[in-house]
Amino acid sequence: MKHFNTIAVHAGREDLTALGVHSVPIDLSTTYPITSLEAGGATMDSALAGRGHVGNDRVYRRITSPNVERFEVAMTALETSRMAAQGADVSQYGAIGFASGMAAITAVLQSRVLAELPHVVAVRPIYGTSDHVLETSVMGTQVTWTDAEAIKDAITPQTGLIYIETPANPTLQLVNLHQVVLAAGDIPVLVDNTFATPVLQQPLEHGVTFVVHSATKYIGGHGDAMGGVVVTHGEYVHAVRGLRAATGGLMDPFTAYLMQRGLTTLSVRVKAAQETAGEIVSWLTKQKKISNVYYPGLGDSDKDNLVGPGRQMTGPGAMVSFEMAGGFEAAAHVAQHVKLITHAVSLGGIDTLIEHPASFTHRMVDPDARTHAAVLRISVGLEHHEDLIADLEQAIAGA
Ligand code: PLP
Repeated sequence: MKHFNTIAVHAGREDLTALGVHSVPIDLSTTYPITSLEAGGATMDSALAGRGHVGNDRVYRRITSPNVERFEVAMTALETSRMAAQGADVSQYGAIGFASGMAAITAVLQSRVLAELPHVVAVRPIYGTSDHVLETSVMGTQVTWTDAEAIKDAITPQTGLIYIETPANPTLQLVNLHQVVLAAGDIPVLVDNTFATPVLQQPLEHGVTFVVHSATKYIGGHGDAMGGVVVTHGEYVHAVRGLRAATGGLMDPFTAYLMQRGLTTLSVRVKAAQETAGEIVSWLTKQKKISNVYYPGLGDSDKDNLVGPGRQMTGPGAMVSFEMAGGFEAAAHVAQHVKLITHAVSLGGIDTLIEHPASFTHRMVDPDARTHAAVLRISVGLEHHEDLIADLEQAIAGA
C-alpha cells in the first residue's frame, strides 16, 4: 500500500503514460459519442440508478466526465488511505464530485429523505449555511440539535442521519467520532471534514458513513475553484450519485482538474500552514486584548481527540479563532484594519484570511446558538508567521 503523499500525486493518473501525456488532459465535452443503442441505453439506466456509465459510453456530461472521475478516484483513495494501509477492503468506497460543498451536503440530505428517514440529529456548531439548511428544512429534513454526548437520546425511528462537523466551524471544537458512531448504531453518520482534510483526519476509518468536503477550501487550495465532494460506500454511493445525475449538481471538468491538482500538494500545504498556525496561536494566547483562543488541543476535552486512545486527528490544523476582550467593536476593528491578511470569508487557501463569523459565515444561525460576537476566525495560509503576527499586532493595537 502506497503512502498518502504518493497516492495524492499519482491517484487518478494511472493511464497517463499509456496516453502519452504527462499532465492530466482536460475534457470539456458536454456529450459523448454513443457506441450503440444498447450500450448508450445501458448507461442511461445505470446512471440514474447511481451506478455510473457502462463501458466507454458516458452519454452526457451531467452523468459524469473523465476529469470528475479522476478527481473522485484520487479523493476516495486519500480518504480511505489509512484503512487500506491497515489491510481493510476499501473497494466498496467511492466519491461523488459536486459543484459546491453545499450541493454535496444537500444531496446527502435528499438521499435520506428519499429513504423515508428524514430526521437528522445534529451537533452545533456547524458551518452557517449547513445550519440554515437543517434549521429551515429546505431539503425536507427535520432536525434535532443536541450535544455529542446526548445523540442516543435524540434518535427516533425516523432518524436517517447524524450530522457532525469536527473541528467545528468556527469554534474549532472537536467531536469524538468513535463515541458518535457507537451512539448512532445502524444510523449513518456524516462528518464535514473540510477543516481537517484527509491529511489530518479520516472519519471513515472510525466507522463514519459519509465524509463531505467543501473542496473550495483546502482541497482546491488556491481560492480559485468551487466544488464539493461526498465519500461514502456501497448503496450510499449509488443513492448520492443517482441523485446527482438527476438533479445536475456535477462538478465541472476544469474545476475537477484544479481539485485533482490541489490534492497533489494538500499535505505539504496543510502541514506548513499548521506549523504557522501554531506560532500564531502561541502569540495570540499571550495578548491582553484577547480573552480566548480557540484551537484544537487547547481545550481540555480536545486532548483525547488529538492524542488519546483512538485519536482521530494527527494534528490541530491551520484554522484559528479568537475572541477580543473589547467585544464586537474591537473584533470589527481588527477585521477591518489588517493589511497583509485579507478580510474575507472562505478558508484553506494559500493566503491568510480573517472574518467575523457572527456577521458573515454564521450570520444566519439562531443568535442564541451563534458564536460570541467578539470572535474572529483566521484561515492561516503559507506566508511567514512573523509577517502575519506583525500584521495582527498592528490591527489589534488600535482595537
Ligand atoms: N462546510 C464547511 C465547513 C464550510 O466552511 C463551507 C463553506 O464555507 C461549506 C461546507 C460549504 O461549502 P461551499 O461554500 O463550497 O458550498
